[in-house]
Amino acid sequence: MSARNLQRGIMRLINHLFAPGICLACGSELLDANPLCPDCSAQLKRVPNPCQSCGQPNPVSGRVCPACMLNPPRWQKMIAPLQYRGLGRDYLLQLKFSEALYLSKTLCLQCLDSFRESSPRPEILIPVPLHHERLFERGYNQAYEIAAVWSKAFGIPIDRHALTRLRSTPSQSGLSATQRANNVRQAFTFRPKREYRHVALVDDIVTTGSTVTEITRTLHRAGVEYVEVWALARVYRR
Ligand SMILES: [Zn+2]
Ligand SMILES: [Zn+2]
Repeated sequence: MSARNLQRGIMRLINHLFAPGICLACGSELLDANPLCPDCSAQLKRVPNPCQSCGQPNPVSGRVCPACMLNPPRWQKMIAPLQYRGLGRDYLLQLKFSEALYLSKTLCLQCLDSFRESSPRPEILIPVPLHHERLFERGYNQAYEIAAVWSKAFGIPIDRHALTRLRSTPSQSGLSATQRANNVRQAFTFRPKREYRHVALVDDIVTTGSTVTEITRTLHRAGVEYVEVWALARVYRR
């Protein structure tokens, strides 16, 4: 997103906070409590026929796509309902680069149904942690903000202390899949106060999946049997 688009997005957000009757995206008048008008809501596109394993569109019928049948990801299940393009992408970028926490709530509420149908329920939501220096710099962890909305909606508790990021890994953007995997290797430690068997890792966007793969490896080693990944959006591999 260009600096100008980002600035425009932030201005819209500020306008919305002061004038909540106006659509967060286009500024048109709202008829209900939804912060997006029906046209803008419709632009938040869902992933069509998502694979339950990788979250990407499944070209064939069934729960798992051919790519995952051949080469299953390390985690057991992924739900990431929004397409990372168009308006959805603009919003998600703002979530990362500005304190647009209001947006995270809007996006989470827009796609509650995708998570509601998932069973059995994870025992605990674990937000993908930031390194403490990053957290201090930014002032919030967007993964935690998202987990907080889903926790409240589904009555699943959050554990934000069990998983920690040991190193401040350089930004993943612009790196290849192999570089990303090396970048996060052994970057996490998991020390829960009680034992978990079924957890959902929460993040905003899953790109190549290298971060959640590394965390899943750490959780499995600590005895967690079933790891789900819950995210707002998934970047397609194709
Ligand atoms: Zn609108
Ligand atoms: Zn798949």
